Amino acid sequence: AVRVRFAPSPTGHLHLGGFRTALLNYLFARKHQGSFLLRVEDTDQARTVPGAMEQLEDDLNWLGLKPDESPRQGGKYGPYIQSQRLGLYQKFQEKLIESSAAYECFCTEKRLDLIRKEAVRAKAKPGYDNKCRDLTRNEVIQKKALGERYVVRLKLDHSPVEFNDALYGNITLIDKHDPVMVKSDGFPTYHFANVIDDRLMEITHVLRGLEWQISTGIHIQLYRAFQWQPPKFAHLPVLLNKDGAKLSKRHADISISNYKSDGCAPLVLANFVTKSGGGFYHNVDKLFTLEELSKEFDLRNLNSNPCRLDFNLLEELKRRYIHMEIDQNFEGILRDLQSKYPSVKENYLRRILSWCKPRINSIKELDSMYYLWAPPNNISSLKTPKVYLEYFRNSDLEVKKFIATHEISKKHFSQDLRTILCGLEKGPPVQEVVELLGPDEVKSRIDLAIS
Ligand code: GLU
Repeated sequence: AVRVRFAPSPTGHLHLGGFRTALLNYLFARKHQGSFLLRVEDTDQARTVPGAMEQLEDDLNWLGLKPDESPRQGGKYGPYIQSQRLGLYQKFQEKLIESSAAYECFCTEKRLDLIRKEAVRAKAKPGYDNKCRDLTRNEVIQKKALGERYVVRLKLDHSPVEFNDALYGNITLIDKHDPVMVKSDGFPTYHFANVIDDRLMEITHVLRGLEWQISTGIHIQLYRAFQWQPPKFAHLPVLLNKDGAKLSKRHADISISNYKSDGCAPLVLANFVTKSGGGFYHNVDKLFTLEELSKEFDLRNLNSNPCRLDFNLLEELKRRYIHMEIDQNFEGILRDLQSKYPSVKENYLRRILSWCKPRINSIKELDSMYYLWAPPNNISSLKTPKVYLEYFRNSDLEVKKFIATHEISKKHFSQDLRTILCGLEKGPPVQEVVELLGPDEVKSRIDLAIS
C-alpha cells in the first residue's frame, strides 16, 4: 500500500510551499487509498521553535489534510517525533559501524574550519577530506578512551549514484565528502533520521521539495549501506511568482495561519496551488473539492519547471468561493448572523448578500460590516445642523438631490450621514448605504442620532 509522509522541521510557520508539498502528498495518498503521515523532524534542536509542531498539525487539520498517522493521531509506526526516536537511531548507528559502512570521525572544529577555508581559497566545493576513514579500530578505541568527541560519518562510494526522479527523470549525483550521520551530541543528522524513518515507517514514495534532490545521492548510499530498497522519489519544483521571480517576501512570508485568520477558505488555497504547475487534468473555472483533486491528481503530469503562482488568481478564487458559499449556505449564514443580531431578516440578508458578493473577500467580512446588522453606537459630533438632518429624514432620502436643494456643505452632510448610518468615517457611498438599509432603518437611525 502507498505510504507517504510530510516531514517538516518545526522551525516556524507553515507557508504556501510547505502546504503544496503536504497537499500533494495527501492527494497522492487518497488517490491510491494509501496513508498520509505527519512526521516531525526536530533533530536540529537549536532551530526547533517551541509550539511550531503543534501549530503545524493544527494547520494541516484546518486545511483538511488530516494525517492518518501523526504525533497527535498516533499510529503503529510511532513515535512520529524524531527527538523521541533517538534510541532507534542509536541502534542503526551501531550497525553501520559494525559493518564498516560508517566510522567515527574525531576531527576537531578547528581542523574542519581549516579545510573549509582551504576549499574556499582553491575555489573547490567545500567538504570533509575523509581523513578519519583510515583510523584503525585500536586508534578509535584509544581516542574514545581519552574522551575525544566524535561524529559518525557515512563511508561514501565515490562513483556516481543514479536514481529515477518521478518528475526529473534520471538523476546522477556524485558525493565525495563523507557526510555526518550522527553529531557529537548523539543526535542524528537530517539525512540519517530521515532515511531510517522512511524505512521504518514503510514509506513508499517520497514527495518533497526540490531543494532536497541533491541530498538524495547520500540517502541512496545510506539505503545501500543497510541493504534496504529505497522508496520512489519525486521532487517538487519551487514556487515562483507569475513573472518567474522568487515569491516576493510579502507572499512567501504569509503563513497559512494568516490566510486562516484573514478568512481565506482552505479549499481556496488548495485550488490556488493546484491550478498552476500541472498534475491535474482539468483546469476549468471551478473550485474542486479535495476528493475531486485527489481523483484527478497524476504525479506524472506535474511540471518539472517551477510552479508559477498568480496571486490575482487567488483573489479570483476567493470571490468564487464566496459566491458558492452564499449560494449554497444561505441558511447557515443567516443562522450565524441571527445568533449575533437576532433582528436580521431573511429578505434583508438576501439583499445585502447580493450587494456584498462582488465587494468582499470572505464571509467573515460580513461581521466587520456590523453597521449592516445594528445601528452604530459611536456617533461623535455632527457638523450639519440637526434641523437639516431632520429635513432629510422626512425627504425621499435622495442624498444628491437633498444637497443640491439645501444650503449645506456637501462634504459635511455626506460625512455626517455616513457616521449616523455606519459609524464610520470612510465606507461605501452613502447613497448605497441608504438603499441597502432601506427607508425605515435609515429614518430610525437618524432619529436615534438627533434625539
Ligand atoms: N525535514 C525536511 C524539511 O524540513 C524534510 C525533507 C524531506 O521531506 O525529506 O523539509
